[in-house]
Amino acid sequence: MHHHSTTDTIVAVATASGVGAIAVIRLSGPEAFAIVQGVFRGRDLLQQPSHTIHFGTIRDGDKVLDEVLVSLFKGPTSYTKEDVVEVSCHGSDFIVQQLMQLFLKQGARLAQAGEFTKRAFLNGQFDLAQAEAVADLISSDSALSHEVAMKQMRGGFSQEIKKLRAELVHFASMIELELDFAEEDVEFADREQLRLLISNIQRIIRELLRSFELGNVIKNGVPTVIVGKPNAGKSTLLNKLLNEEKAIVSDVPGTTRDFIEDEINIEGISFRFIDTAGLRETTDKVEAIGVERTLQKLSQSSLIIYLFDITTTTPEELQAELEHLNPKKLPILAVANKIDEASPATLAVFGEVENLVQISAAEGANMDGLKEALVAKVNLGKLNTREQTIVTNLRHVDSLNKTYEALDDTLSGLDLGISNDLVAADIRRALHHLGQITGEITTDDLLDNIFTKFCIGK
Ligand code: GDP
Repeated sequence: MHHHSTTDTIVAVATASGVGAIAVIRLSGPEAFAIVQGVFRGRDLLQQPSHTIHFGTIRDGDKVLDEVLVSLFKGPTSYTKEDVVEVSCHGSDFIVQQLMQLFLKQGARLAQAGEFTKRAFLNGQFDLAQAEAVADLISSDSALSHEVAMKQMRGGFSQEIKKLRAELVHFASMIELELDFAEEDVEFADREQLRLLISNIQRIIRELLRSFELGNVIKNGVPTVIVGKPNAGKSTLLNKLLNEEKAIVSDVPGTTRDFIEDEINIEGISFRFIDTAGLRETTDKVEAIGVERTLQKLSQSSLIIYLFDITTTTPEELQAELEHLNPKKLPILAVANKIDEASPATLAVFGEVENLVQISAAEGANMDGLKEALVAKVNLGKLNTREQTIVTNLRHVDSLNKTYEALDDTLSGLDLGISNDLVAADIRRALHHLGQITGEITTDDLLDNIFTKFCIGK
């Protein structure tokens, strides 16, 4: 389908910069083997079969720069479908820079961000949605985001879109065929069936669009804010949650993963606490956060934890606060703090209040109950992440919306009995937008936009 030929050979460091045991430099293009061979001392790489690894040295003139392992992948059985060489060297930035210089001098060109994956796409290795999933996979930081990206990369989402598209293509061509026989008044495309198909596709699109709410949560986390009166215990709670998270992350043996500030992971969902600067230092401060500032915090979040001191609040006061705080009706979780100091009578009164969690932030009591309630607020339960296709990409949402509109136009065109060529044009427009998701329809701008978001070396 894609006819693409590249004449130049690109090179980039595929591993993260900084000191590691090993770094990998990757080359792709017609000269990849020859460029490495030009500075390699060992077997003649040009004579070796694909998918083999060779030990040797890289030399700049007489000077040995490093001992390396060279992996060979002959096109089309490589990531980009071109000739690819991966050079594994020792992971010093100095060595990496020296080798890169050498390969550039030999005629390779520095790869742009995402250029390896772009070539893979242009050479038909996978479609656009799958290519985008590669970027998601690299940046996935929870079990769920990994699962969804992996599924998309393996083509789950693409298959769904392509199936819909193929059925529409069939009808579009039937209607266009009718145009050729305009004189004879024949009908190849059954209008009732077409209507059914369109409604069916629209239903699926609606489901996909709904899944984005969750997809976005999975990919980007839930911006969460803790609000409440001074001394309610907000900073105590935040520190408790973040310290537990820190302990969990550093408990995993052998991991060097950085602990992400102000973020906790519960059942695969990342809760990102926003605007925590004022809350993090535990020094006693009586900071009356202005109303305006509170509203601003709320506007950036999609989940609110309203924390209050159970020993100084009545249920009526709580109710009034909640209504006053949340004009936009965001998901809000009321959390009663300091149960360690509350009388049994007070606990019983608040026990009657629905959707309320009681904790002691200072003593860490009922943190599990709090976490459970947070997950429930995100409402993950209504979607089955294993079975259902989940849209995570804003670009796909946009294309799906435009497809939906074009299908609406097609339906009303059919209702009004407008001429076939106009109906055909509406269907074509739907096909165009649907095709942009998987890349059956692309423009240079679109491709640039997507691939420049990748990291260099991918
Ligand atoms: P903030 O102003 O909302 O951030 O409140 P702080 O976290 O600074 O807490 C205010 C005071 O309440 C501090 O003296 C805390 O030690 C205390 N505090 C916080 N959580 C609890 C709790 O669960 N039980 C008790 N007894 N005291 C708490």
